[in-house]
Amino acid sequence: MTTVVRIDLGPCINCSLCRLACPTECIHYFSTGQRTHVVDPSGCIGCDICVRVCPVDCIDEDPDYLIDPEQLEQAKGKARVFAKRRHDVKVARRERAVVAAGAVAHA
Ligand code: SF4
Ligand code: SF4
Repeated sequence: MTTVVRIDLGPCINCSLCRLACPTECIHYFSTGQRTHVVDPSGCIGCDICVRVCPVDCIDEDPDYLIDPEQLEQAKGKARVFAKRRHDVKVARRERAVVAAGAVAHA
C-alpha cells in the first residue's frame, strides 16, 4: 500500500536534496513564505527516494494522510514523464561524449 511522506522540520537543514530528487516534484521550498521544505501529499507516490537521499533522516511516512486514488495515478504519470526526461538527458549526454571521443580520435 502506498503511504505518502512528510518532513520533520525540526532537524531539516534545508539542503534541497529531497526536492531535487523527487520524481513528482511535490516537495516545495518556501511555499509557506518561510525557509522550509514541505511535501505536497497530493503529489507524493511514496517512492521513498527523498527518504534515501536525506542526510539527516528527517523524512518519514505520514500514516494520517488518506490517498485519493485519482491523484495518485496523476502523480505516477508525472513520475513517468520525469523519469523519461532524465533518461533522454542521459542518452543525449552519452551520444555527445561518443561524438567528442570520435572527433579526438580523428584529429
Ligand atoms: S516519497 Fe517520492 S514522490 Fe513522495 S515526496 Fe518523496 S521523492 Fe517525492
Ligand atoms: S533532504 Fe532532508 S534535510 Fe535536506 S531539505 Fe530535504 S528533508 Fe530537509
